[in-house]
Amino acid sequence: MKAIVVDIGGTNLRVALFEQEQGQPGQLKQVKREKVCSFAVSQVKGQALYRAFLSQLEACLHPYLSQYPDCPLAIAFPGPVSPSGVVSCAPTLWGEELRQVDFLDDCKNLFRRHVVLMNDISAAVWRYADHGSHENTSGNDFCLFTISSGVGNKVFSGGKVLLNDQGQGGELGHCQLAFDEYALRCDCGGYGHLGALASGRGIEQLGRHMASKAPAQFSSSALARLCGGDIDRIDTRKLVSALHQGDEFCHQVLSRSQHYLVQAMSHLYHSIGIKRFIFIGGFCCAVGLVYLESLKRVVRQFSWLGLGGEDIESMCRLGASDDDHSLLGLGYYLSGGRQHG
Ligand SMILES: [Zn+2]
Repeated sequence: MKAIVVDIGGTNLRVALFEQEQGQPGQLKQVKREKVCSFAVSQVKGQALYRAFLSQLEACLHPYLSQYPDCPLAIAFPGPVSPSGVVSCAPTLWGEELRQVDFLDDCKNLFRRHVVLMNDISAAVWRYADHGSHENTSGNDFCLFTISSGVGNKVFSGGKVLLNDQGQGGELGHCQLAFDEYALRCDCGGYGHLGALASGRGIEQLGRHMASKAPAQFSSSALARLCGGDIDRIDTRKLVSALHQGDEFCHQVLSRSQHYLVQAMSHLYHSIGIKRFIFIGGFCCAVGLVYLESLKRVVRQFSWLGLGGEDIESMCRLGASDDDHSLLGLGYYLSGGRQHG
């Protein structure tokens, strides 16, 4: 099975050929990456930006479309996509001006073949989903979290990604979980949101906040040595480095951030029974097993009605540490499954 797969990000546009032999894991070939024509780099806005973006997509895809005239095309997009393929907004790509764009229809007219369009985190879910799981096999249900510059999530349940008829769902990153002095500012303008406390950027500002509250503890930390004692120089790179050195102060920052994350997980479990959680994304990959072990400790501190020790121990796992989730997920979605494990 072959498919042309596209991952549109806020920074990069990636295209690849997905190929899967019967019973084998899928592979990405002829991978191409270029800077995407976004509001951040383009001179134009609104409809002119959209036209420039479509031209880039067309030029980038042209060699693949002519080499593989019969392959389906699947596109992952960094914003909500309705079932009919309308993008309600895409602030990271198009800024605030473009809304309610009939992107799927435009792609079909432009490329004249079968096109699948879905949100990028929904696409990533299909990398980890067991195809053929239906409504009665809740053992395959899970929630995928991305922990990178923001926090994103999608729930896979009953054989599908749970979304409403506008394509919305999976915005736990903007759910308010802190109401006290830890209600730090979120990128969306709100306060105390999960993304403001548990994303890479969130942990960075949480680190600064905790350092200013406990200056003595901060000043004796490995993080302070990396920052020359300057709280304003705390960034995710130094946090990751100090965490790998076993720095106690940074462990407390990480643990507090994960406390909010586990609150969100607990709500998902107690509301709809999700008890498997997969974590991907730049920050979480960079901290790796240190992230996972710390998360497991926090999970054990919570109560989980009806779950035994084994369920709790196997609740969280890290996904692959590459950047191919959406591209592979789109391929698996089209091919009908991973056909392994
Ligand atoms: Zn927010």
